[in-house]
Amino acid sequence: MLEPTKTAIENFRRKGFKAEFFEDKNAALKYILDKIGSETVGIGGSMTIQELGWAPTLQARGEVLWHWLKKEPGILERENAAPVYITSANAISADGAIVNIDANGNRIAATAFGQKKVFIVAGENKIESDIPAALLRAKNVGAPLNAKRLARKTPCAIKGDKCYNCLSPERICRTTSIITFPPTNIETHIVLLSGSWGF
Ligand code: SF4
Repeated sequence: MLEPTKTAIENFRRKGFKAEFFEDKNAALKYILDKIGSETVGIGGSMTIQELGWAPTLQARGEVLWHWLKKEPGILERENAAPVYITSANAISADGAIVNIDANGNRIAATAFGQKKVFIVAGENKIESDIPAALLRAKNVGAPLNAKRLARKTPCAIKGDKCYNCLSPERICRTTSIITFPPTNIETHIVLLSGSWGF
C-alpha cells in the first residue's frame, strides 16, 4: 500500500466512512458481495468498474441497473433509485474526500442522497494529497479523458491532455461534488485498489 493510500484510509475511517484497501480485485469484489446480498445494484458510469469486469458476477447474484450495459428509457433514474450504488471517483483526496465531475449529475445525486449503501471503488492512481489537488486531477485528467472517450466536441477531447474551461454545448463538466463526510443515512464504503484503474 502506498503512503497516500494509508493516509487516505486512516482519514476516511476517522470521518466515519468504511474504508478498505485490497491488493486483489477479487477480494474487493467479495467484500462488496458480502455486504449487499441480493439487493438491486445501480452502477454509475465508470471506466474503473468496466475494467474490473465485475458486472457478470453482480448480475449472477441479483438485479443490476447500469446504462452502460443496457440503454433504455429511464435507466439512469432507475439505477439512481437502487438501494445499493457502485461507482468510482474522478479523484480521492488523502485527507478523506471524494471528488466527482458529472455531465448528467447522476453519480453526484446517487452518492449524496437516497441510497442505503454506496461503494466508491478507486485505484491508487486516483489518490491525491488534498482537495485542491483532487479537483485539479478531476478537471485535468478525468474530465478530458472522458470527453475524449465520448468523442465530445470539446477542446480537451482532441488530446485528452487538460481542461480548456470550454463553453462548448458538449461540455461534460457541469456538476462537481466534494463528499467530505459520509452523507447522513448512507453507509458509504471507500474501496481502494492496488494499481491503476480507470481515469
Ligand atoms: S470544461 Fe470543457 S475543456 Fe474543460 S475538461 Fe470539461 S469539457 Fe473539457
